[in-house]
Amino acid sequence: MSENLHPTADATPENAPAEKRDFIRQIVREDLASGKHTAIKTRFPPEPNGYLHIGHAKSICLNFGIAGEFSGVCNLRFDDTNPAREDPEYVAAIQDDVRWLGFEWNELRHASDYFEAYYLAAEKLIRDGKAFVCDLSAEEVRAYRGNLTEPGRNSPYRERSVEENLDLFRRMRAGEFPDGTRTLRAKIDMASGNINLRDPAIYRIKHVEHQNTGNAWPIYPMYDFAHALGDALEGITHSLCTLEFEDHRPLYDWCVDNVDFAHDDALTQPLVDKGLPREAAKPRQIEFSRLNINYTVMSKRKLMALVTENLVDGWDDPRMPTLQGLRRRGYTPAAMRLFAERVGISKQNSLIDFSVLEGALREVLDSAAPRRMAVIDPLKLVLTNLPEGHAETLTFSNHPKDESFGTREMPFGRELWIEREDFAEVPPKGWKRLVPGGEIRLRGAGIARVDEVIKDADGNVVELRGWLDPESRPGMEGANRKVKGTIHWVSAQHAVEAEIRLYDRLFSVQNPDDESEGKTYRDYLNPESRKVVTGYLEPAAASATPEQSFQFERTGYFVADRHDHTAAKPVFNRSVTLRDTWTAG
Ligand code: ATP
Ligand code: MG
Repeated sequence: MSENLHPTADATPENAPAEKRDFIRQIVREDLASGKHTAIKTRFPPEPNGYLHIGHAKSICLNFGIAGEFSGVCNLRFDDTNPAREDPEYVAAIQDDVRWLGFEWNELRHASDYFEAYYLAAEKLIRDGKAFVCDLSAEEVRAYRGNLTEPGRNSPYRERSVEENLDLFRRMRAGEFPDGTRTLRAKIDMASGNINLRDPAIYRIKHVEHQNTGNAWPIYPMYDFAHALGDALEGITHSLCTLEFEDHRPLYDWCVDNVDFAHDDALTQPLVDKGLPREAAKPRQIEFSRLNINYTVMSKRKLMALVTENLVDGWDDPRMPTLQGLRRRGYTPAAMRLFAERVGISKQNSLIDFSVLEGALREVLDSAAPRRMAVIDPLKLVLTNLPEGHAETLTFSNHPKDESFGTREMPFGRELWIEREDFAEVPPKGWKRLVPGGEIRLRGAGIARVDEVIKDADGNVVELRGWLDPESRPGMEGANRKVKGTIHWVSAQHAVEAEIRLYDRLFSVQNPDDESEGKTYRDYLNPESRKVVTGYLEPAAASATPEQSFQFERTGYFVADRHDHTAAKPVFNRSVTLRDTWTAG
């Protein structure tokens, strides 16, 4: 979408963004200054089991951002070690999303590219007496594990010989045993205060077809093992992840250190055979706090349920916090990056107010979106002193603060559509818009007055008839007198009918994850979050290309729908209102 928006001026030293100084960037600076690394390498490691959401955007902006700022590189690695939940549809969407945010990866990798190397690493651990095949069931493993106050107990299979372990592991790999009957476990310390170190499983049996490796593997590595070794194999210098992995870091380090790819070329030969470079760094895991936003659910499981239960119109429903949804809503890559910058990076868990996200979009679109006029809830105003069929063209600037946006022509006529809420028969106190007998400035067209209010049989106002002061046209002396309000309009004869989707927050409460009242997030869906109306656009808005954003004057920022909009049948989504008007919850 950025192509459609007005290009912004190149960053000069005076307006270049301030250098970011969060604790992770400080570590990177020090590691480069001390010569610990000559170049840095990061990675973004999504599991292709769903669409990316705005929380992932924080991680993407961090990993790719740091690589860019410090002349390093960032890999995109699909963490595809759990074949049951993965799908090529997600693999494609994730790549689309990362590119849309404005980033390009150094290399595209899959954890499954390393299955052979992982396997050899596991055999090495067995040979070194650091891993064993365990026959305990999942339930028994839990019982042996102990808890935070009690140490665990050693598995009765812990002292199997290297030969027996190798034989059993090879037979696991050959597919001899059913799912769940055996695991390969790291032999670390069942009495460790850190439960992650109590002989964690590193391989499990799973006779499930994999989207990348087909039926080649009946066993799959566990996340901690695969993730640590994947980082090492790619030469990642800084492995950035969210805080819940802090307690996993000792296991991460244990895997990297005990496998030690750097001193065992046989282990990395499978990569060389695939034409991949042989790299073996000691990556450092650093944790940061995950993004949480109120009025939103971010768990992939819940987002999936919203889609499969048809509570929203798909993964790219403009109310979804997915990147596909936000994109369709009219969020731009620049707005997403600005949001990530505002949220910052720290180790403190926090809840970000939804208005911070909306504010970032307003700020970006204020300078990037051309202005147009559109009437969302139309009421006809007939200027009876103009001749029937009167038509003329007025010139408007496309942006009030930036002349480089140029101007456009806008037709004006005897019959106009104005916003219904800009007229009040009985005005409330402080009203500055149209009333019977009162005057109003029609944006860029002169001063009008309402003389007659036409109603239907039920008493609803269906039309206003009035007068355009012929001495008040733009540039004339009469235009200078004081009139309280200015309203927008479109020429009824020239306007193009449009479907306008008025979106609002998907949930009506701050914390839809709260189940303390016996409710779930499903009960907190905001029934007002999607209203579809028919409005009227000036022709220069109707002719937009999909994903083009405008400010519709006085009503908000709108985007031409990515999929449904055509110039002949325009469809616009409200991205955000002009001001924060949220009150519920
Ligand atoms: P799960 O692993 O349960 O499927 P996940 O949210 O961890 O869900 P991943 O695909 O594994 O999803 O995430 C990829 C990367 O994005 C990880 O490095 C993860 O830490 C990061 N990430 C995910 N959610 C957030 C969030 N809310 N804030 C910041 N980073 C996040
Ligand atoms: Mg994850």
